Amino acid sequence: MPRATKIVATLGPASNEPAVLERLLRAGVDVVRLNFSHGTADDHIARAQRVRDAAARVGKPLALMADLQGPKIRVGRFAEGRVTLAAGAPFVLDAARAEPGDPGGVGLDYKDLPRDVRPGDRLLLNDGLIVLDVEAVRGEQVHTVVRVGGVLSNNKGINKQGGGLTAPALTGKDIEDIKTAMTFQADYLAVSFPKSATDMEMARQLANVAGEPFKHKPALIAKIERSEAIPQLEAILKASDGIMVARGDLAVEVGNAAVPALQKRMIRMAREMDRIAITATQMMESMISAPVPTRAEVSDVANAVLDGTDAVMLSAETAAGQFPVETVEQMALIALEAERAEDVQLHADFMDKRFGRIDQTIAMGALFSAHHLGCKAIIALTESGSTALWMSRHNIHIPIFGVTSRPESERRMALYRNVQPMLMPAHTDRDQALADAERLLVERGALMPGDTYAITCGEPMGHPGGTNMLKVCRVG
Ligand code: PGA
Ligand code: MN
Repeated sequence: MPRATKIVATLGPASNEPAVLERLLRAGVDVVRLNFSHGTADDHIARAQRVRDAAARVGKPLALMADLQGPKIRVGRFAEGRVTLAAGAPFVLDAARAEPGDPGGVGLDYKDLPRDVRPGDRLLLNDGLIVLDVEAVRGEQVHTVVRVGGVLSNNKGINKQGGGLTAPALTGKDIEDIKTAMTFQADYLAVSFPKSATDMEMARQLANVAGEPFKHKPALIAKIERSEAIPQLEAILKASDGIMVARGDLAVEVGNAAVPALQKRMIRMAREMDRIAITATQMMESMISAPVPTRAEVSDVANAVLDGTDAVMLSAETAAGQFPVETVEQMALIALEAERAEDVQLHADFMDKRFGRIDQTIAMGALFSAHHLGCKAIIALTESGSTALWMSRHNIHIPIFGVTSRPESERRMALYRNVQPMLMPAHTDRDQALADAERLLVERGALMPGDTYAITCGEPMGHPGGTNMLKVCRVG
């Protein structure tokens, strides 16, 4: 069995070199994330090209994900670059302050903060390492008392516990970055801090307009990292192709302890709604500077796999860590081992499934047949990749081969759990297509003489959404 769970790796200084990129791909990276919080448009365009070149050399399907920065709610700068805050001391966040900060207070990049908070609110700075309690708001000044102190340096992020900061999800910079990402046809566009389905719909519209000259429409990932997004989850999922469990910011807003249960719920909902889920942040954090993960990290990755995530994501581990390739290798091993322990409950899964389309019915029929007959593979001849996506929403220990003539569908499927994307030239003759697909899998070693497999296709051939046939075959 090939590994079913996919690996998303963020690029950065530790992974820019073509040789390192190649090693990362060989070690198991399926999706490369370009983080638009860092670097210029030209950096990203050059990086995207290097990644695609490396994928071509390695000969593997790879998706590119452009991750927008979103609103950055940050403090300003300090005269000394940093201050040490002591518990119990007063500290003033001042939107009108022009001079650099000192131990008594600091200016704000985010000018709306005084209107977003009231006495009693709790602010978390620097990913929750520093906690401030709001005592009073006077004009542009937010007067706080330090509850948990520590070192606070320039431009650290601010979160409000429980949510409620009004900054819009898409900034002017994001709109420009969407245009940049469409010039290299990013397969996935990740939107940071969406609060509602409307945020996602707006991003999709902008992306489709920017992608129009390239005839490209990216898939959209909503990063769930705001309290407000939780009650909107269903609507956000409907408006998106997938979600990221963005545990970094989410944990600060909802509290660390709430995250594991939310992760399970989000992944389950995504799968039930035929959407993708990525689990992100600090999965292998210690490997930024250590050659092996901690026991807790191993468990975290394995549990995300057992939760049913499509992909596990690496951030600083591959962007700025000392062991980027080793981290991917370890992650791949952990995922494979967890998948072996996974419980396949296709029967229960099927009883609850609702579907009303012919192509989806065929996809489910293929799963059911392959599972009960004990097939070695399921092959989906697919234009858009949607048949493979439907099949992949159920746990089944049979690899699904998404065979397509469209390179963009091949790349997109790289993120789908348990889908092995493959490219095959377009066919007009059905029997020829079926025979060629079988040969492709035999050549790849996925099928051997005597093996049974299930294959789906659409007739007439070449129409997205046209899947209407299932054939169960034995390799002669
Ligand atoms: P980020 O998003 O790395 O862009 O902040 C992920 C997260 O918040 O977990
Ligand atoms: Mn985040």
